[in-house]
Amino acid sequence: MRCPKCSYHKSSVVDSRQAEDGNTIRRRRECEECHARFTTFERVEALPLLVIKKDGTREQFSRDKILNGVIQSAQKRPVSSTDIENLISRIEQKVRTAYENEVSSTVIGNLVMDELAELDEITYVRFASVYKSFKDVDEIEELLQQITNRVRGKKKSNLNDETH
Ligand SMILES: [Zn+2]
Repeated sequence: MRCPKCSYHKSSVVDSRQAEDGNTIRRRRECEECHARFTTFERVEALPLLVIKKDGTREQFSRDKILNGVIQSAQKRPVSSTDIENLISRIEQKVRTAYENEVSSTVIGNLVMDELAELDEITYVRFASVYKSFKDVDEIEELLQQITNRVRGKKKSNLNDETH
């Protein structure tokens, strides 16, 4: 890891801590030549995670693929890139814990939708409409009904919190 200021190749670690996603180590380093301080993020390489697609072929789990899909759905919505990064990290962790090395693309799609439903309803509907590629209007109505129920459920639990 070269110093970003003077390019010297040796640095010492001043501080080291785990980032929020649990898979990344954040390190404060100090250049041994010019003493400039900089931060590095090191990802812990886990076993490759394979996604089984609908046609039965497999591909590597890709954070970028989910990221792109969610960013498109979240356009002009109050969803930050940190929100999305954290969301993907949670999904990756869930999948690795529950499915080890192989998981179907359907499971991942459903996990993304669960997360988005909690994060932002509009983003959720947009993502779902692309992901599920609705066959007809009935399916959209059904989805909207589910969201309405979710939102009502949330409001109800908020009310309950206030009364207690
Ligand atoms: Zn330096």
